[in-house]
Amino acid sequence: MITVEQIAAAGVVGAGGAGFPTHVKLSGKADTVVINAAECEPLLHKDKELILHRTEMLVEGLARAMQLVGAARGIVGIKKKYVHVTETLRPKLAAKMEIVPLDDAYPSGDEFILVYESLGRVIPPGGIPLAVGAVVMNVETACNVAAVGIKTVTEKFVSVAGSVEHPCTLRVSLGTPLNECIKAAGGTIIADPAFVVGGAMMGYIETDLSKPVTKTTGGVLVLPQNHFIVQRKQWDWKKTARIGRTACDQCSFCTELCPRNLLGHPIEPHRAMRSLGFNLSARSDVPGTIFCCECNLCSYYSCPEGLDPKNVCTENKRRLLADKQRWENPPFRPERPDQQMRNRKTPTTRLIQKIGLAGYQNKGPLDDRLLEVQNVVLPLRQHIGAACVPIVQPGNTVHIGQPIAQRPVTNGKPALGADIHASISGTVTEINSENIRITASIN
Ligand code: SF4
Ligand code: SF4
Repeated sequence: MITVEQIAAAGVVGAGGAGFPTHVKLSGKADTVVINAAECEPLLHKDKELILHRTEMLVEGLARAMQLVGAARGIVGIKKKYVHVTETLRPKLAAKMEIVPLDDAYPSGDEFILVYESLGRVIPPGGIPLAVGAVVMNVETACNVAAVGIKTVTEKFVSVAGSVEHPCTLRVSLGTPLNECIKAAGGTIIADPAFVVGGAMMGYIETDLSKPVTKTTGGVLVLPQNHFIVQRKQWDWKKTARIGRTACDQCSFCTELCPRNLLGHPIEPHRAMRSLGFNLSARSDVPGTIFCCECNLCSYYSCPEGLDPKNVCTENKRRLLADKQRWENPPFRPERPDQQMRNRKTPTTRLIQKIGLAGYQNKGPLDDRLLEVQNVVLPLRQHIGAACVPIVQPGNTVHIGQPIAQRPVTNGKPALGADIHASISGTVTEINSENIRITASIN
């Protein structure tokens, strides 16, 4: 049996979200491990491809996680529309493992929603799945857990979609520049491309394509500069506040469709919008905004006026955190979901139509050859927690998989984080406060 310390030393962090160190998650006790295979970001397909092409590893990773947390049950939450994926996985599942079919709705991959849909349990506002006896892991994270003892985390699977010649899922070395990924997908097919990293709904615009793929990069979308998603992600706060203050008619659609509100959490984006009319200090009087998961459903889908309640919530949240305001024991209606959740789910197909992605290929077949690159840049912080500390020097020769940066140690204890490894063999050509660059050996 592997240990959580081996998982930390292998560099495993959540590959589908913010990069929470997996060994910390697996140090708790839970009755169920849930694999998050919902993959609800439109046009991203890497998790489905991994289930098809790394089926045994996913099952092994799930088994290891169950053993570590003492879980009697393992669940893979996957959309019921992916029948061929389910049929591939089901015969490989071990005892006490099952598939929970999910509706094709957004954001079914939000772990609060996933835990509710698969276990019928509502994680309290501000809580984590462990609060209701569950641990949630992404598909790729589970595969990385399965590889512990054999290899460290040096690769990433990345979907490249939108206006590229061949939308696909690539297998790349960590630190691979984003432009190499675009090139490997056949390059852009439009004259004025913009690049969205991480997905249309929750991703961000990247203008510097020399930036590397990290342990949490799930995908890159290529879209025209005048695309709805690109335009909306470029609204600044002044524009959000000005338009929101004058045009919000308090219809509350944003709240009625907010997935966290539907779970019974006290997040009401229309109230955050109302606060735009208040003075600045009063704006942090909307404490429920702290529970916004930033899914963007309210801004890109729900609001009939095309306003931006998500960013108003985010701004409120930022102010609350800056003021060190917490909401202890917020009101919470765990009984609320039953009726409302069923009736108000947002179908992914309708979402794709509304945000202007219906014309793009919605498939991402895996190219399972490791993409060859000459240089990789490995950020020292690819996870939640402290930046790692380099343990190599410029000029050192390194081999793929070798540790090159470790968690800092304070009072004999490693900080929150996960170690970082050389993703290609070669020479360390640069180290600065943020990155380590490795240049490939010339054979
Ligand atoms: S849906 Fe739009 S108009 Fe309606 S309350 Fe929310 S932000 Fe205002
Ligand atoms: S982004 Fe909007 S819809 Fe999503 S959780 Fe936040 S307030 Fe609710």
